[in-house]
Amino acid sequence: MKALDELTFDNRFARLGDAFSTHVLPEPLDAPRLVVASEAAMALLDLDPAVAETPVFAELFGGHKLWAEAEPRAMVYSGHQFGGYTPQLGDGRGLLLGEVYNEAGEHWDLHLKGAGMTPYSRMGDGRAVLRSSIREFLASEALHALGIPSSRALCVIGSDTPVWREKQERGAMLLRMAHSHIRFGHFEYFYYTKKPEQQALLAEHVLNLHYPECREQPEPYLAMFREIVERNAELIAKWQAYGFCHGVMNTDNMSILGITFDFGPFAFLDDFDAHFICNHSDHEGRYSFSNQVPIGQWNLSALAQALTPFISVDALKEALGLYLPLYQANYLDLMRRRLGLTTAEDDDQHLVERLLKLMQNSGVDYTLFFRRLGDESAALAVARLRDDFVDLAGFDAWAEQYKARVARDGDYGEEQRRARMHAVNPLYILRNYLAQNAIAAAESGDYSEVRRLHEVLSKPFEEQAGMEQYAQRPPDWGKHLEISCSS
Ligand code: AMP
Ligand code: MG
Repeated sequence: MKALDELTFDNRFARLGDAFSTHVLPEPLDAPRLVVASEAAMALLDLDPAVAETPVFAELFGGHKLWAEAEPRAMVYSGHQFGGYTPQLGDGRGLLLGEVYNEAGEHWDLHLKGAGMTPYSRMGDGRAVLRSSIREFLASEALHALGIPSSRALCVIGSDTPVWREKQERGAMLLRMAHSHIRFGHFEYFYYTKKPEQQALLAEHVLNLHYPECREQPEPYLAMFREIVERNAELIAKWQAYGFCHGVMNTDNMSILGITFDFGPFAFLDDFDAHFICNHSDHEGRYSFSNQVPIGQWNLSALAQALTPFISVDALKEALGLYLPLYQANYLDLMRRRLGLTTAEDDDQHLVERLLKLMQNSGVDYTLFFRRLGDESAALAVARLRDDFVDLAGFDAWAEQYKARVARDGDYGEEQRRARMHAVNPLYILRNYLAQNAIAAAESGDYSEVRRLHEVLSKPFEEQAGMEQYAQRPPDWGKHLEISCSS
């Protein structure tokens, strides 16, 4: 266990130089205080969890203090936003403080979001509000606990600093961690500004640090791109299987590591709805729930375009062709497991699609359906779940097909079925209304609800005593919450 001043820095991105990032100091928040910290994320830095409660913790992550070895930098990147190219974005309100490596030899970027203005702030104020910082904190840690790759969150620091959005709010900072903060948009920036030397440096950097095994391949850059395609196919399969809607899949929000990254107005589905749009400024539904799948490929194509100086167009196209089949295989594998199946049959895709259509038409709670399906034998579970469906004849037909499929899958007892299904079907997810309750309390100075919700979501598959209220369908007011896109 380490104290805060014992972190070991090795700032590899900063060493790439001024073409890649600009030195900027954090602008401190007034009266910084700890809102919530993730013990699991602290463990990744070998930090003693007790240090979160010390004043120096809030000072460090509220922008008042810096380690001598930190080199705070704002990174430059660009990206396609809602399909159109924006030539320069960059860290407008976040700073890469430095890279820390832990005792296991893993490197973690420490990125302070909401740290003040940078050369890339454009019209923005460089700040993040408490509301959006709490949402990103809860989501990153909840996704990780679900087994969905994501950037991590060490802590949220609240303050008295006024920040104007639709109304006056309070500024906060989120300490985000990831093995890299390099986005698709980093490659696009150097490609479209025609800086081949820097682009080659960036590609070498990513290859050496994050895809070293690709060095062994005859075409290392192509192997790296293929790996990025694969990771994205796997990631998006997980989003779709667990009902996560990212909301702003612009290429500047896509990580080169294939992890969930840069949270905006994200949501987990309550009722299953393939057409769900969580971002209210997304009028055309470009980033609707079901569109995430083709958009994943669209974004990879944008990255491919930026990699044309290194890889032939034919090879890039071939690698892009891996995306959909891989996505489908991963998705189906996860959905089979959610249904409690251990074997594969040709018609399983159809079984899943029919179920989702029924759920869509009846507004069935996506998370609770699967959890309850595993509570007891297939026959008992479908009999109990039947009441949630409007199209009873349709559901009965599906249920017969499902029971027959389960019977063919193998003869195992109810106990085994429950254990296996509950291990993949969470009881607790980050529902918008739960986040909203925690945010409302935090805005009035009570952080206990954020902390409790974070705790519950850190063990989403385990039934926790006294936490029944976190495993309910949302109340009516909580179903149609308008999540502000300003953050
Ligand atoms: P986002 O929608 O958070 O992914 O941000 C898109 C771009 O806008 C990035 O370059 C951000 O750094 C920048 N940005 C977002 N909010 C602010 C803000 N309040 N101040 C400055 N820049 C911002
Ligand atoms: Mg972004």
